[in-house]
Amino acid sequence: MRATASHTPSVIELSSEAIAHNLRFIKRFVRKNVRISSVVKGNAYGHGIELYVPAAEKCGIAHFSVFSLDEAARVLAVKQAETSVMIMGWIPVERLQWVLENEIEFWVFEAERLLEALQLADLLGVKARIHIELETGMNRTGLGPFELNEIWTLMHDYKHAYVLEGLCTHLAGAESIANHVRIQRQIKRFRLMTGLFKEHGFQARTLHAASSAATIVYPAFQFDMVRVGILQYGYWPSKETFIHYVSRRKKKHDPLDRIISWKSCIMAVKRVRQGEFVSYGTTYLATEDKTIAIVPTGYSHGYSRSLSNSGRILIHGQRVSVIGMINMNMLIADVTFLNDVVVGDEVVLIGQQDDQVISVASFSELSNQLNYELLTRLPGGIMRRLTP
Ligand SMILES: *Cc1c(COP(=O)(O)O)cnc(C)c1O
Repeated sequence: MRATASHTPSVIELSSEAIAHNLRFIKRFVRKNVRISSVVKGNAYGHGIELYVPAAEKCGIAHFSVFSLDEAARVLAVKQAETSVMIMGWIPVERLQWVLENEIEFWVFEAERLLEALQLADLLGVKARIHIELETGMNRTGLGPFELNEIWTLMHDYKHAYVLEGLCTHLAGAESIANHVRIQRQIKRFRLMTGLFKEHGFQARTLHAASSAATIVYPAFQFDMVRVGILQYGYWPSKETFIHYVSRRKKKHDPLDRIISWKSCIMAVKRVRQGEFVSYGTTYLATEDKTIAIVPTGYSHGYSRSLSNSGRILIHGQRVSVIGMINMNMLIADVTFLNDVVVGDEVVLIGQQDDQVISVASFSELSNQLNYELLTRLPGGIMRRLTP
């Protein structure tokens, strides 16, 4: 199996079919009239903003959430005109004008920032599209009950300078049943605080609180919009979330498909005599004559050094062992029991080859929680492309 040529030593492929499949599942799962915001922070969880956003738009997604201004700029560069972008986190004050002029929605979690934004919007003659983040118990960003008077005064004084796109909060760990009481308390506070906005005459277009886990586990907390990240890429926020889902269904299979594959190819093949060490140091001793394949992917490309002497990759549809230390740019695999391995043969680091699969989870320690971290650690510099 020859790999298709690319300009980088490895390539990340996204399956269009899997993207459509997962988004169909999420759409069917959320309650009627609940909008889906596709969370594409962290370079679309490592998948690549520039490829993922247009692919998701084709499936009917028209709202994207990012963490920071730089990510918003990348979405803006590839999105359709009518698609909305929402920054949930960081905006440097000197770029507020850019945010306002590009009609980007953004979260406000400080009175000072609200004032800056409203004054600037007033000056520019535009409307700031704000989501006010409420502190309900996560204790990260968010405005607490004692700060609301100040907010309401500003909102009253600059009535014409904003659209209240949303009132929102973030839940502290809906993926674990251990946090159930804490989550319930957060939602109670959220309902209370959003009620106060209404009493003061401020009607938000949307209320939103749920990420993937809460969307699945607490459907009643979907409100008007859900902010779905990890699910759309084909992973569950935690094992518990998956169990929660399947335990209520007849069919017990995983309804999600993985989107990402990470492929490379063999750059050299050679024989090593019994008694020789392979790669740096003495961690791998050839106990018999070996054939080894060198693959141009190392820890600088995101293939963790902790997989030295323990990783598995796919060649010719077979699982083969990574031997010796992972280098900065290369890894070495034992292909002794394969026939006719030649330079250019396809190597699968994550994904499927024939009927074998290397999952992101098996790629490191077997914790599902790590999917988030593993995916986002895939470097942006690796070439990415869509496959059917
Ligand atoms: C990352 C994030 C999400 C999405 O989380 P998933 O678990 O990936 O669905 C939603 N809301 C906020 C505020 C986030 O930071």
